[in-house]
Amino acid sequence: MVRNKKITAVVLAGGRGKRMESEISKQFLELGGNPILYYALNTFEKSIVDEIILVAAEGEEEYCKKKIVERYHLKKVTDIVTGGKERYHSVYNGLCAAGQTDIVMIHDGARPFITEDVIEKAARQVIECQACVVGVKVKDTIKVSHEGVIIDTPDRKKLWQVQTPQCFEHKGIIKAYEKALQGNTDNITDDAMVWEMYSKIPIRLVEGSYFNIKITTKEDMVFGEAILKWQK
Ligand code: C5P
Repeated sequence: MVRNKKITAVVLAGGRGKRMESEISKQFLELGGNPILYYALNTFEKSIVDEIILVAAEGEEEYCKKKIVERYHLKKVTDIVTGGKERYHSVYNGLCAAGQTDIVMIHDGARPFITEDVIEKAARQVIECQACVVGVKVKDTIKVSHEGVIIDTPDRKKLWQVQTPQCFEHKGIIKAYEKALQGNTDNITDDAMVWEMYSKIPIRLVEGSYFNIKITTKEDMVFGEAILKWQK
C-alpha cells in the first residue's frame, strides 16, 4: 500500500510471440538461465505493489503456475487468468480479475528489465494524477510515412517512446476499456491510447530507462543477454 491505495500489477504473458519465430512462446525462452517472464514478475514481487495478476495464453496457465510462479516462490501472484486474441483482450481480462483495487500497473511480461525504482516512481505519480506511463525520450529522428514516402517529420523534442508499466486508477481504465471494446478496436497497441480516447484526465510521462526493452525479435535476445551482463 502506498498512501492507503492498493496497487495491482497486471503482467501480460498472453501473446504467442510470432515475431520471435520460436517453437516455444517467447516469454518462456531463457535469458541468463531463467525464463524471460520470471524477471518482471520477480521485480514486481520485490516492489511496493500489493498483488500481481498474471495473464497467460490459453493452455499455458498451468505451465506458468508450475514453472514460474511456484518454481520462483512468487507469493504476490494471486491469480493467473487466461488472455485473449489481442493484447487489449488480455489486458481487459487482467483488469477484470483485479477485482477490488485502487491502482493498476499494466506491464508487458516481455519487458524483463523494469526496475523497482521506476515502479515506485510510477506508483507515486499515478496516485497523484490518476494516469501515467513509463517511457523514454526518442533518440532518433522519427518520420511519418505514406506508401514508403516521408510525409512529415515531427519535432523530436516532443516525442517519447512509451513502454510499460502503464498505470491508471482502476475504475477509470476499466470503464475506458469497456467503451473501447464496443467501438473500433483496430490499432489499439497500448493502454494509454484507450485512456486518451475516453478520459479527459491527462496522462503523465514518467522517465524510465533505455534498458526497459521489450523482447520481440531474435536480436532482442542478444541485447537482453548484454543488459543482464552489464547489470552484474
Ligand atoms: O505483441 P506485443 O509485443 O505488443 O506484446 C506485448 C505484451 O503483451 C507481451 O508481454 C505479450 O505476452 C502480451 N500479449 C498478451 N496477449 C496477447 C498479445 C500480447 O498478453 N494477445
